[in-house]
Amino acid sequence: MTPQEVIPLARPVIGDRERELVDGVLRSRQLSLGPTVTEFERMWADRIGTRHAVACSSGTAGLHCCLHALGIGPGDEVITSSFSFVASANVIVYTGATPVFAEVDPLTFNMDPAAVEAAITPRTRAILIVDIFGYPADVPALVAIAERHGLAIVEDACQSIDGDFNGKKLGTHGHPAVYGFYANKQLTTAEGGVVLTDDDALYLLLKSLTNQGRSDDGAWLVHSRLGFNYRLSDVHAAIGIAQIERLDWMQDARARIAGRYQARMASVDGVTPMYEGPQRRSWFVYAPRLDPDLDRDAIIGRLEAEGVSAKPYLPCIHLQPYYRTDHGHAPGELPVTEEISASTIALPFFCEMTDEQVDRVCDTMERAIQAERAA
Ligand SMILES: *Cc1c(COP(=O)(O)O)cnc(C)c1O
Repeated sequence: MTPQEVIPLARPVIGDRERELVDGVLRSRQLSLGPTVTEFERMWADRIGTRHAVACSSGTAGLHCCLHALGIGPGDEVITSSFSFVASANVIVYTGATPVFAEVDPLTFNMDPAAVEAAITPRTRAILIVDIFGYPADVPALVAIAERHGLAIVEDACQSIDGDFNGKKLGTHGHPAVYGFYANKQLTTAEGGVVLTDDDALYLLLKSLTNQGRSDDGAWLVHSRLGFNYRLSDVHAAIGIAQIERLDWMQDARARIAGRYQARMASVDGVTPMYEGPQRRSWFVYAPRLDPDLDRDAIIGRLEAEGVSAKPYLPCIHLQPYYRTDHGHAPGELPVTEEISASTIALPFFCEMTDEQVDRVCDTMERAIQAERAA
């Protein structure tokens, strides 16, 4: 490794098995609505222990379909987290409903159940849970709130692939959960997603909605409802099958690399390592916090000058230009979310990262902070 080599933020594992399965689909000429997608769905349902899995073209598409299937629309409110990727709020806007942002817990960065309950109004129809950075939200507490108030739940587990709460996999808690398979996720299909559900009626509706609203009996040119083209192709599903085959290895590799980061970052002055609580984290990113006196952009500049990729991550959704101009949000609304969002920094994190690369990131971080404090 030369000192100049740039360490990327993320990099998927793609090997001979992905190439072999993709080639098999190409040779079969069944590029869409074929057996590979069905097999991919079966593998997910078996792995997670749900009755059904519905593959879709992205995590965003899966979330949108779930809200649409629940009948959420104009005049409704859906409570969610602003400390998330923009898609989890956008899907609420797609339906015509209004996202209402609840404050997050300062340790887990997930929605604080008490804040969720306080945000409920007569218009609230659902809670969209987000398991940010792969740490599960307090699912049982949120389910209890939803039951008390007659609300639906959709879970955005896009950053928590194969995650669980108290050992019970996300997707098996009585409401649909969605995974996303963009190239930086724990598992990728290039683009893609899956909805996990035990509900037979919801399953049939999602199969129809993702496939142009075709009727449940599969009749080709009969469209019973307004649907979308949110299908995953068999080419993408083939990549996904190869990825599921190596998922245990990939998850273990991520956990091991995270462990090395955590141990080293604990002694870097100015950095708070990621929270490790009672729940298992499905490691998606490595994003520790910087002390508030440090200029994060300046630190990122110093890291990048030494070939270490870094990003301010995540920006809060309610402060995105679109949510300010079109939804009237402004700074100061969510002090905890805004403070966390201003301090977290995403560092290089991928399965094939070497110990030397992790050490180089940590050493560079330590030097960058020292230089910043001396400046
Ligand atoms: C990745 C992600 C999604 C879905 O993203 P797609 O690119 O549409 O697959 C949704 N929510 C969160 C929190 C995500 O990180």
